[in-house]
Amino acid sequence: MSAPTVPPQHPRGAGRYAPSPSGDLHLGNLRTAILAWALARRSDRAFHLRLEDLDRVQEGSAQRQLEDLVAIGLDWDGDVVRQSARGASHAEAIDHLVDRGLVYECYCTRREILEAPSAPHAPPGAYPGTCRDLTEPERAAGRQRMHELRREPALRLRAGTTTWRVHDLWAGEVTGTVDDLVLRRGDGVVAYNLAVVVDDAAAGVDQVTRADDLLSSAPRQAHLAHLLGLPEPGYAHVPLAVNAAGARLAKRDGAVTLRDRLERGESAADVVGHIGDSLGLPGCRRAADVLERWEPGSLSSQPWLVRLAD
Ligand code: GLU
Repeated sequence: MSAPTVPPQHPRGAGRYAPSPSGDLHLGNLRTAILAWALARRSDRAFHLRLEDLDRVQEGSAQRQLEDLVAIGLDWDGDVVRQSARGASHAEAIDHLVDRGLVYECYCTRREILEAPSAPHAPPGAYPGTCRDLTEPERAAGRQRMHELRREPALRLRAGTTTWRVHDLWAGEVTGTVDDLVLRRGDGVVAYNLAVVVDDAAAGVDQVTRADDLLSSAPRQAHLAHLLGLPEPGYAHVPLAVNAAGARLAKRDGAVTLRDRLERGESAADVVGHIGDSLGLPGCRRAADVLERWEPGSLSSQPWLVRLAD
């Protein structure tokens, strides 16, 4: 099988926003979306929208998210991509790795992975390599066990390294851990890490803007792109929005989605105003105001503490 092909690139690359349609977008999500859009437009890149709908989809959420993004003034190039429609490309990428001996079956349960002694210096949760070098009889026993559990083995990448370096617009050069990540889960669903790499490359994305809880995943994703012969993107990880307790903002934190705010009598322009305030840009009413006035270098590396009068 040949390597996945790289499509003709937009002459100046592309940025993207890639929400998971698992509920309405909250202020933190909307801020990340605006910044992704502003960074792409500023640098004369294309801007794409991809719905990461491989799992945890909430009925109707994708449509609502798109409406909300339009309401705050975003636009995008080309059709919205649904990740669930990209199965053939995901399978092709896995086949390509299989052909090169870079994939193995994993029979571990989540609990076994957590309880296994981890390799020295590996961060908690990194895969300890239990199934990496099993003998054929051990694999047969693993498959039998999966069969009894009515599960498929997961497929893991045989990573070629334990660290990889990426470049982040704000964090600079970041070297992070690479482990044998899951490519296809035991329930048959393609793993996020594989899908994101394949789909970004297929869309010519060279600027990955998203929340900074994914910064630690960037090195393993860039390494996977490298193994697939795909260009490694640059990254721009935006600090998360948090509640008063410092925890990641969530729907239960009150009126934090655009729709909640509209119900409270605010307008979409007011919501863009809150986002502008968080960036030190008072008086923004539309995403275009942020595009015009925001200096990326001025972004605080601290989380955005969201405090709104109800
Ligand atoms: N779909 C992920 C999310 O909504 C973002 C993944 C990415 O941007 O790489 O958190």
